[in-house]
Amino acid sequence: MSTVPIKDLSRLCIHTITTKPWSIEEAVRHYSESGVRGITVWRDALRNRNIKQTGEMLRRYGLTVVSLCRGGFFPNVDLNTRKAAFDDNRLAIEEAYELGTNKIVLVCGADPAQPLEESRKQIFDGISALLPEAASAGIKLAIEPLHPMYADTRSAINTISQANDMVKSLNSSWVGVAVDVYHLWWDPSLEKEIERCGRNNLLLAFHISDWKSPTTDLLNDRGLMGEGCIPIRKIRSWVDTAGFDGFIEVEIFSSEYWKQDQSEFLKKIVTSYKKYA
Ligand code: ZN
Repeated sequence: MSTVPIKDLSRLCIHTITTKPWSIEEAVRHYSESGVRGITVWRDALRNRNIKQTGEMLRRYGLTVVSLCRGGFFPNVDLNTRKAAFDDNRLAIEEAYELGTNKIVLVCGADPAQPLEESRKQIFDGISALLPEAASAGIKLAIEPLHPMYADTRSAINTISQANDMVKSLNSSWVGVAVDVYHLWWDPSLEKEIERCGRNNLLLAFHISDWKSPTTDLLNDRGLMGEGCIPIRKIRSWVDTAGFDGFIEVEIFSSEYWKQDQSEFLKKIVTSYKKYA
């Protein structure tokens, strides 16, 4: 299996959280100057802003708004909390529409006070109920399976196989899967499940970063591509073979990198993208 390295930046997307110290206005200016062509917007970056105008600004800089991050967190033992989460997802659909993107990434959620099976049922019901609104707004929902270390509070969907199965039972063209190498690289069935996902036209997003060894923080110690042990280019070749031709999204939560000069960090992202993605 050989994958051609990507020399240009036409498919490079960066998540606003990757350069968290920058406001979205600063981020878009720097991304655009560096030749980055895609941006995935985290909802906190939109706080106190006119969302429609922000979307227009991003496009003026020549960027495609790849997706809005994130919806989800459906499960809870408490019905009122579940209802509030559902309303927040409806709001996310409105925000995505205003922003001018056609995709929301779902971190599905989990509640440690109940069995994972129950959380999965609530995720299914939540997405199911959301689908008509997503469809009428023209927004696709991308289920992102999370590494099992997050199965207590962040997601009861921990493998791509579970995500593929859930998408299959939801049976709608408005829901698919987001593949994030950080969460899925360890899975022996990854190649097969990426193929299955692509075959059914359900592969909606591809996120990259690296797994540092050792990892010192379960949330905020992700590495730049090439700094860890994830075979990123190999996984990309599976995604390519599955027919995915969308943006390759750099999503790095790192307390270390957030402390550094973000312009220097951006240069490193571009270099490591060309070398390892
Ligand atoms: Zn991700």
